[in-house]
Amino acid sequence: MSNGGWLGREKAVLTQASHRPHDPKFGPVFSHGLGARLWDVEGQDYIDFTCGYSASNFGHAFLPLVEVARNQLGLLTHLTQEPHLWRAPLAEKLIEVCGFHWENGKEEAKVHFNATGSRAVETAWKAACAFRPGLLISLAPSYHGRSLATSALSETNTNMPDFVPISIHQRRPTSEFAYCASCAHNLHHPACRTRCLNELVQFIKADSDSISAVIVEPALGARGYVFPPAEYWQRLRRTTAETGVLLIADEIQMGLGRTGSMLLSTSQGWQPDLVVLGKSLGGGIVPISAVIGRGDVIDALPVGSESETFACTPLAAAIGLEVLKQLTTGPWLERGREVGMRLRESLGKSGEKHFPGLIIEGQGASAVAEFVDCGRSLVDAQELARRIAIACRDQGLLVHLTGPLATRIVLLPPLTINDEDLTEG
Ligand code: PMP
Repeated sequence: MSNGGWLGREKAVLTQASHRPHDPKFGPVFSHGLGARLWDVEGQDYIDFTCGYSASNFGHAFLPLVEVARNQLGLLTHLTQEPHLWRAPLAEKLIEVCGFHWENGKEEAKVHFNATGSRAVETAWKAACAFRPGLLISLAPSYHGRSLATSALSETNTNMPDFVPISIHQRRPTSEFAYCASCAHNLHHPACRTRCLNELVQFIKADSDSISAVIVEPALGARGYVFPPAEYWQRLRRTTAETGVLLIADEIQMGLGRTGSMLLSTSQGWQPDLVVLGKSLGGGIVPISAVIGRGDVIDALPVGSESETFACTPLAAAIGLEVLKQLTTGPWLERGREVGMRLRESLGKSGEKHFPGLIIEGQGASAVAEFVDCGRSLVDAQELARRIAIACRDQGLLVHLTGPLATRIVLLPPLTINDEDLTEG
């Protein structure tokens, strides 16, 4: 059966929300993958520069992870919340790689596991409110998931579920995010001295008693790989610390390798109270997520207030341990930085020649082509970025079309990509 045939079959039985006709990489129906490559049912191969938005940072069927999974399948796969041999070691290792050092040295770090990113965000949210009752503030744009509760935190420009019956008063307006391409103040960093943050800082200071926590993505993931300067986050950290408001870093997408370090936040010189990890921790094989951070905050969760059937099963924990081993003892963080740099260099050389105004950005193993200044209008820029993303797919390269203005093409190669695939990509 062809790609079209399979899509028709899917359409007949899957909801319209399962389909993504607006996404330029929607079309091929995949049958298998290896390393940086995917194959569709018609035998066409693709280089995957999407990596499940960093869930598959090691590429497809990465042998060390496959071997651990195979071994674990015959040993022990599932328990629902019962303690097992792999859970404490994974929590210990997560605390170690997150490298928390609180200044007053009082708080011990603790970990709580969930299965998906959204649920871990909810756990962090619950714990923050249990420790310090009040609103949870999220920034706009941001993406923290699509569960009923996290939908209210995530601001996206597509299909915002206004029908979700949860207050969205905790969301803050767009002008506060450091997306210089559409700066509400028409300024540029560093001359702007992060003016976009002023409003949020004032808001927190004026009403800190009613705020439990602020949740942030240290770099926008699903909304376009926008990297605010470290100074922006350091200032927000100072404000929250001064007022007692908690700061939660959702590193579900940026953490564990994508940005060239274990955590983007600590690599930028600021430390959240809670960190949320997911995606990459499961090696593209199993869903597993975790909240790591101040024990006094996470332990405010009352006994019995949080559980999930598939949270940290033996299979997921064994894979999570191998992911952390690969990241701490293998060459992958360094390789990811090198791959990202080479992509940005080559995009710069060829892209700027063909598309005057093209901006190349990114950090670690990511490369972003921003088209917002290409063309006479925003519509021109959006159309150009869209046509290029579709042309990539038609030529066997999968990329993300994204960004607060839908003008960014984001390349997320596996950290394990070989030179041949990288050059071809
Ligand atoms: N937070 C961030 C930063 C994410 O990128 C995502 C997934 N794209 C989520 C939360 C939600 O994770 P999940 O889809 O596993 O629920």
